[in-house]
Amino acid sequence: MELIKGDEARFVKESIQISEIPAPTFQEAKRAQAFAALLKANGLTDVRIDSINNVIGLRKGTGKGPAIAVVAHLDTVFDAKTDVEVKRKGSVLSGPGLADDSAALASMLSWLRAMNQAKIATPGDLYFVATVGEEAAGDLRGARKFFKDYSTIAGVVILEPLQAPYALIAQNATLRLEVTFKGPGGHAYIDYGKVPSAVNAMGRLIAKMADMSIPAQPLTTFNVGTAKGGDYVSKIAPSASIQLETRSVSRQNVETIARRVQVYARQAVDEENRRWGVKSLSMSVREFASRLGGMTPADHPIVFAWMAAAQQLGMTPRGLGVGSTDGAIPLAAGIPTLVLGFGGTAGGFHAVDETWNPTNAYKGVQLSFLTTLAMAGVEGVSQPTLATR
Ligand SMILES: [Zn+2]
Repeated sequence: MELIKGDEARFVKESIQISEIPAPTFQEAKRAQAFAALLKANGLTDVRIDSINNVIGLRKGTGKGPAIAVVAHLDTVFDAKTDVEVKRKGSVLSGPGLADDSAALASMLSWLRAMNQAKIATPGDLYFVATVGEEAAGDLRGARKFFKDYSTIAGVVILEPLQAPYALIAQNATLRLEVTFKGPGGHAYIDYGKVPSAVNAMGRLIAKMADMSIPAQPLTTFNVGTAKGGDYVSKIAPSASIQLETRSVSRQNVETIARRVQVYARQAVDEENRRWGVKSLSMSVREFASRLGGMTPADHPIVFAWMAAAQQLGMTPRGLGVGSTDGAIPLAAGIPTLVLGFGGTAGGFHAVDETWNPTNAYKGVQLSFLTTLAMAGVEGVSQPTLATR
């Protein structure tokens, strides 16, 4: 812990160094190479860059123990033309992507120096992973590939700009549906009474969903985000569609709601056809841009390990939350996962004036490091919290 504290200035310097290498999503190659070189410079001999530019550094364990992956992302939401120079105003640094997630990458280097100097060995392998494609357009492609390629990972720590001591243990499942109604269409006066309306059916569906009761625990949400239909005022609408989404850490809840939407949509079509004594209206449902979710149970041993680490460092654990990170992939696979921070105070994410005040950031680095060691175990000191996978 003293080594981590004494390393703070270098940690901040390397955060800036990484942040000043542009790394838009899908253009992470240059930053990947620089980070691979930094891992090697800090004693990792087994460092590779995979086919999509994920960087994977392996610190071998001494024998049989759980393999742990420590993950931060290389990419930023900023395009290649963005000025990435980090500016300083007093103790506050500002730079696009500095806290999200350059400092997280740099904190791994601080861990490595401390582990090497203190001669810390872990029973299982430790993987230091820098992923591509974490931000929206990347659709977590880096994490998807890494966790597919490395199937023995038994526990995961994701590093993101979270305020220590705060942790995320869950990721919402998001299920998105588009419901489309199609009918023959017709003239509003001439065809009146003979033709069903796609807009009417859509309205029937929305009315049913608006009155739907939703489980309160765990928090489950539901929204019809768009409704479109019809061509003009004197035409019976031949088509109409809505897009809706539902979110919850419970995959079961979102799937139940999705099934209910299908039933209501079918009923809406039947009612509209019956109203005019026809069968010419139909509907289809399409799922799009859905996301897997999952959670580490709040009473999981690694959550207690994190709380114990916080207390050991004189901090009061502030709470557990739900967020959207690379953690979605291992959480959906049921791998125990914590999303932790690296200290300091950060804000303005995804804005060019993103800030990070790294004063006493070492405390956050200590917390994520100590938690990870508790998960992995330390040779001659403590048993792993996790089982081997
Ligand atoms: Zn991030």
